Amino acid sequence: MAEVTLTDLVKQFEDVVAVDGVSLDIPDESFTVLVGPSGCGKTTTLRLIAGLERATDGTIEIGDEIVNDRRAYERDIAMVFQNYALYPHKSVEGNMRFGLEQQGTDDEVIEERVADAAELLQIEELLDRRPSELSGGQQQRVALGRAIVREPDVFLMDEPLSNLDAKLRIQMRAELNKLHDKLSTTTVYVTHDQVEAMTLGDQIAVMDAGEIQQVGPPTFVYENPRNMFVADFLGSPSMNFLEGDLRREDGEFRLDVGPIEHEVPTEYHDALDGYDGERVVLGVRPEDVTLRPDGIPVTVNVVEPQGEKTVLELALGDQTIKASVDPGVAVTSDDRVSVEFDRESVHYFDAATGECLDFSA
Ligand code: ADP
Ligand code: MG
Repeated sequence: MAEVTLTDLVKQFEDVVAVDGVSLDIPDESFTVLVGPSGCGKTTTLRLIAGLERATDGTIEIGDEIVNDRRAYERDIAMVFQNYALYPHKSVEGNMRFGLEQQGTDDEVIEERVADAAELLQIEELLDRRPSELSGGQQQRVALGRAIVREPDVFLMDEPLSNLDAKLRIQMRAELNKLHDKLSTTTVYVTHDQVEAMTLGDQIAVMDAGEIQQVGPPTFVYENPRNMFVADFLGSPSMNFLEGDLRREDGEFRLDVGPIEHEVPTEYHDALDGYDGERVVLGVRPEDVTLRPDGIPVTVNVVEPQGEKTVLELALGDQTIKASVDPGVAVTSDDRVSVEFDRESVHYFDAATGECLDFSA
């Protein structure tokens, strides 16, 4: 078991700065998810921790030791790759044994660990098969098994579920959670999928352009985004943004956004102090837009049933906003309806910097 600490980590490839000063504490036994759009530097960060890339600057600590100068095989980590990277000519058992054999582990210990991992992952019946004789989900289990038998201090996983179909992905997500409950091995998990990040991690680190934008428990980050990037990236459909001029009159704050004059609830007044006359963005998540008589008049553009919810695309003047509503709701396109924003869940952002004005850690 070990914690991992990244401090001012930089990785530059010729003219590309892939990782641009990342500092991150990955607590012992945590399941930490690095999430962000494609190309933001997630894989590079993971490869730096693994020792597959050399840092340009900054330090990587595993446990109490700075490991920058330690080679990959000298670091007590096991990595699970997106494409599984199984040896095609070896059986499942052979694949799971191989790393331990290389380390010169006793045969008895190998047998026991492979048997335990196979049981844990329910792949006992597959031990004699070749990877080509396995489904994608089964190959994924074998790749996990190969990491588990090493009993490393840290698991590193790079989009391990992205080659699975949607249903299997959800199932494996639950199994990864269970696995972590059982083994408690410190895990750094990389994904571009914000839903995966929200459901898997006990800590998420949202990355953009080589930098970490925010770190915290998933629900906290979702409810308290530090800036518009994080607010926009987490959540599906994503947060609605309405920009306007903030005006202070008779102790009240009003935000002119298109056809509505939004009255800022008093609990946000302190946060908006000093922003009188500035461009401010109101952020409201689709699930916090509710149909309500005598609310803000909107026109229904699109009704999209998604099973457990229905997403409405609504025209508000020349802008569109989305609302997530109960699937049973009786509206059709072109209907005139009215909506309300949940006052306690809105956020305000500085339009120039994207910083959330009501953020408090
Ligand atoms: P992610 O995993 O978030 O999609 P990566 O870490 O793979 O992002 O890549 C981050 C950036 O670094 C990208 O711009 C990518 O093109 C660049 N990059 C990654 N690896 C290399 C490399 N070996 N040589 C040059 N550029 C690279
Ligand atoms: Mg990647």
